[in-house]
Amino acid sequence: MIIETPWKRWLLALLAYATASALNVFLQPLLEGRAPLLPYFPVLVLTGYLAGAGPGLAVLGAAALTLSAFWIAPAGEPWPPTRPAELLILGLFLLAGGLAVGVSAWSRWLLQQAQTTHERLNMALSAGRMAAWDWDVRTGAMSFSGGAEAVFGKTWAHVDEAWPLAHPEDVQRVRALVDDALRQGRHYTFLGRMHRADTGELRWVETHGHVHCDALGRAVRVSGVTADVTDRQLALQASQAAEERFHLALDSGKVTAWECDAERRYTWIYNTRFGLQPADVVGRRIGETIPNEEHKRALERVYADGEPVQFQVDGRFRDQPYHLLCSVRAAGRDAEGRVTRVIGASVDVTALAEAQAQLRRESQRKDAFLATLAHELRNPMAPIRYAVAMLGEDVAPAVREQARSIIGRQAAHMARLLDDLLDMSRITRNAIELQRERLDLRGVIEQAVDNTRPACAALRHRLVVSLPPQPVWVDGDATRLQQVLGNLLDNAAKYTRPGGEITVRLDEEGAEAVVSVSDNGIGIAAADQAQVFELFTQVQRTGQGSGGLGIGLAVVRQLVELHGGRIGVFSEGVERGSRFTVRLPLAAGAAEAQPLPDAKVVSLFPRMPTVLIVDDNQDAADSLAMLLRSGGFAASAVHDGAAALRAFDQLQPRVLLLDLGLPDMSGLEVAREIRRRPGGAAVTLIAITGWGQEKDRAQTAQAGFDEHLVKPVDPAQLQALLRTLQPAALGAADAG
Ligand code: ADP
Repeated sequence: MIIETPWKRWLLALLAYATASALNVFLQPLLEGRAPLLPYFPVLVLTGYLAGAGPGLAVLGAAALTLSAFWIAPAGEPWPPTRPAELLILGLFLLAGGLAVGVSAWSRWLLQQAQTTHERLNMALSAGRMAAWDWDVRTGAMSFSGGAEAVFGKTWAHVDEAWPLAHPEDVQRVRALVDDALRQGRHYTFLGRMHRADTGELRWVETHGHVHCDALGRAVRVSGVTADVTDRQLALQASQAAEERFHLALDSGKVTAWECDAERRYTWIYNTRFGLQPADVVGRRIGETIPNEEHKRALERVYADGEPVQFQVDGRFRDQPYHLLCSVRAAGRDAEGRVTRVIGASVDVTALAEAQAQLRRESQRKDAFLATLAHELRNPMAPIRYAVAMLGEDVAPAVREQARSIIGRQAAHMARLLDDLLDMSRITRNAIELQRERLDLRGVIEQAVDNTRPACAALRHRLVVSLPPQPVWVDGDATRLQQVLGNLLDNAAKYTRPGGEITVRLDEEGAEAVVSVSDNGIGIAAADQAQVFELFTQVQRTGQGSGGLGIGLAVVRQLVELHGGRIGVFSEGVERGSRFTVRLPLAAGAAEAQPLPDAKVVSLFPRMPTVLIVDDNQDAADSLAMLLRSGGFAASAVHDGAAALRAFDQLQPRVLLLDLGLPDMSGLEVAREIRRRPGGAAVTLIAITGWGQEKDRAQTAQAGFDEHLVKPVDPAQLQALLRTLQPAALGAADAG
């Protein structure tokens, strides 16, 4: 009812004054001039309250004039009044009237203030999409502030009308929470979903309720505020989803992301490395946790000139090498343009860097291999050329023979190199297939040892072989396993100085057959041991004309692994010898397995007799040995009697081809000596001599020779003879 418009306020004052004065015109005659002030007091209060202090005081002034002029005796006197009685009445009227106007105007002001505050509050509530409400717990009655409609789409008079609006999934939880708060008489807050009554739209609301209790502590009233926080919730959900995507990207790229403040302190980090927790890093200065000068310098550059940088840092932390690819840039500046915030991300490229290093090493090894290969392939070319040159017209048979043997030997060497190369290419293509069958590993070892004997003899190595008395069954490819052992034995011979000792052992350990090949040769440094099985690795070149390509052990390892086995190397170091150990799974059920018939074993591994040729004509001896080897025999040659006896002890040959005219002792003496030695009775002794008469034959027979051939020996005849001897010689050896 308060009047705000100025002209209305003054009009009201005028009307009020006129009404009071008119009232006096009627009332004074009735009251006989008493209490002329009376009608003015109500209008003063009314005007002060409705129109304010100004109009109220105006009415007061006008009333005082009117009273003095018409109603206070003596009436009709000119202004100003002079009589003390009149002056007193007027003064009292002005005082009391002023008081009435003041009090009523002040009430008006208070009411105006309250209204403004209320309006402001309502404005604030609706601007914040909030509704304030009051709930009488005992009756269930509810009242709302203005703006409640904007939040809920309606208001309601009883609390029960609220629940149908709530989202079904939230009702139970919220009711339980409110009941609990009422019981305990405490404040409550909840976040829930509700449908707007008007549009049916689903909104998120946050409610705070303050529970008021009576003297007994019972909840009587709840005053509260409910805010529509849908926008906030949606923004939160969107930011959570964005964060989730961001983290996923960081996780899958193994990216560490971080932020530093102006003091170079980490304020945030995600995906910490090296087992560190964010708490270990946040709050610390750059370089405090993981010291790395390079990293620090790069970051300082960003702080100094604000330009983004990209760099790789390499270092070690807790004994782990690391390689990180980092991107850093300024993310905040102060008013002067100084960098206050820096963000960065680093990707762990350790695996990549290691793979690159590995690739580099492999490429270097390949280069070295190609150089070796070229060298090794060129080596045989010179002797072959000489040999070809030797084969002019009219050459002596011995020279032709030597040339042939040289060509044959070098061709065989090249063939071995090429075999190695082929195996290598099969290995890199994973194209080796095993022809597996059940076999006695002892046979494989014996064959490989036999094949190596000549090489060992040539270098005067002692060869010790220790095999168990019972068969050791494995499911394997005989040819490939022989290749494995042959390779290990060749290496042992190659990397041991002449006169060394090579030991081959076969044992059973649990479910494995264990073959070890040990030598007392040049050994392998500990650091190189892991590498020897890599392709193209040659850790030590010796002056012994190894003639290898660094392929052998790589092939060996692959073959062993194809058999489901493992290979290892042990050496106490350089010059301390080496031991290669091959472990192969024993054939399943081998213990109970019926041993295969002997014939089968023999046919699988026909033992070609080892033939020792003794002739002081070196070329003749060597070429014959070569020839026999090409016929499948294990043949080696020596050139004097003493060497013959030594080689006999080491090689234990099955057949000895002995020239009778030797430089140090006669062939007859050698034969007699051999017959006396252990194992000498079983060996087949064949004399090769220029003398073929009866008495010569008798002499050789008497010295213990089994056969007597006259020079020049026809190679085909000799091989045929050796083949006929073979079973007998074998039988004799086996019997012994
Ligand atoms: P290579 O053709 O050079 O013999 P391998 O693959 O057979 O190639 O052997 C790789 C390297 O391992 C050799 O160059 C040699 O340095 C080392 N090695 C192999 N066997 C032995 C051994 N018994 N004693 C010492 N070093 C060996």
